[in-house]
Amino acid sequence: MCGCLRFGKSKVFNVIVSVMVIEAFSGFSLKGRVAFGQAVRMVVDTKRTDSFQRMRVHLNSFRAIDTHDHLEFDKVPGLYTLWRESYFGTFIPELAPKTEHVPVATWWPKVQRSFANGRTMSFYRYQLPAFKDLYGVDFNKMTLQSAEELDRAIIAKYQDPNWIRHIVTERANIQMLVIDYDYTPYDYVCPYEFGCAVVRVNPLFRGFHPEEYNNDAESPYNYAKRMELPLKSFDDYCNVVDHILQRAATRGAVGLKSTMAYHRTLRYEQVTREQAAEAFGKRRNELTPAQIKAFEDFVFWRLCELSVKHDLPFQVHTGVALERSNPLHLENVIAGNPQTTFILFHGGFPWIGETGMMLMRFPKNVWIDSNWLPTVSYTVAKRAYHEWLDVVPSNRIMWGTDTLHAEGLYGAAVFTRECLAEVLAERIDRGEVSEEDAQRIGRQVLRENALEAFPRLRRRIHK
Ligand SMILES: [Zn+2]
Repeated sequence: MCGCLRFGKSKVFNVIVSVMVIEAFSGFSLKGRVAFGQAVRMVVDTKRTDSFQRMRVHLNSFRAIDTHDHLEFDKVPGLYTLWRESYFGTFIPELAPKTEHVPVATWWPKVQRSFANGRTMSFYRYQLPAFKDLYGVDFNKMTLQSAEELDRAIIAKYQDPNWIRHIVTERANIQMLVIDYDYTPYDYVCPYEFGCAVVRVNPLFRGFHPEEYNNDAESPYNYAKRMELPLKSFDDYCNVVDHILQRAATRGAVGLKSTMAYHRTLRYEQVTREQAAEAFGKRRNELTPAQIKAFEDFVFWRLCELSVKHDLPFQVHTGVALERSNPLHLENVIAGNPQTTFILFHGGFPWIGETGMMLMRFPKNVWIDSNWLPTVSYTVAKRAYHEWLDVVPSNRIMWGTDTLHAEGLYGAAVFTRECLAEVLAERIDRGEVSEEDAQRIGRQVLRENALEAFPRLRRRIHK
């Protein structure tokens, strides 16, 4: 209920009635009526409407499928770690770049200015529901003493081996998480029944020489040795890549994931096998940038083919990395691989309209994944859901939390459900969709669409 206006079945109806009643009895001048109309519009907060409250209850009522996260299971975070390894951590320069537990008293006084400056940021705000709902505290009002208590409470909770499962499956109401575990990109098997892996393919783009790898877990050469596969030629290399994906799929992986847009343009040219093979066996300093790019371009196109062969949809990081990460760069590679399922990550932030355009251009094999977007900017995410629902069918949008810790996952899940509930409530109150349709769209975005996009995930859930 709003402090100024009671919202009944229809917020719009009540606002109109209120304006009419006041106009009838007040004799407002035209100027006064315009000013009052503006004031009424200003107090219309979707989150105070009945439609929003009902939609939020509905979106919490079924088990969601989170298509992207990096949840780590072998750590006991304290308050320091939860902030240091949150997205807001980048904006707290006072926290040293180390992740082990640090007593609150040593860092709390130094970070107050950073916290105060970040109050409105989505990167800050998405963590607050976790502190409030899981630990019963209002982080905005914390003192040194209450922060120390919270730190102890977090560490104590992690002594319970069921704590992470409780947060993910019961509090965040997530049935399945698709996990990108980049430290062991080819072999990852989640220790929990609610997790399944994607193959992080980034290391495969630099397989032209074994010295490219200082981490054995990433090295396809090390993989070939373990699997007793030959790796002396470019043809061998292509076979090893195929083997990696085949084996990952049989061990439960459900997709491929690339974050190469952090390192290079998303424009992948179609090059010949011979052009790509020029780089094989040479060190980076013996190659031109064009030769390295040709190798990478070939690998990306090859992965698109293998994605189809092994039934592993291709999650592609787009946006959040300036011009080279604009999803429009993917036009040629998507056009050239019509059988591959491409999932465009993060809504292409800030190119949300361009991301919608890619799906309009390729309606058969492109999907949008809004993971991370509400956490980057709640406002842009809300606008994005509205824009996408204007231009793409509702069975093409997914979501995910994209965090390292269960607490961040919970906060991101609350944030996303609220954002989507606002969008759907506004559509209901504008008379554009029925409540029943809006609920169905919510279930699609938060659950059903993931099952449609990932065949291996669908089979796992339904087996
Ligand atoms: Zn991620």
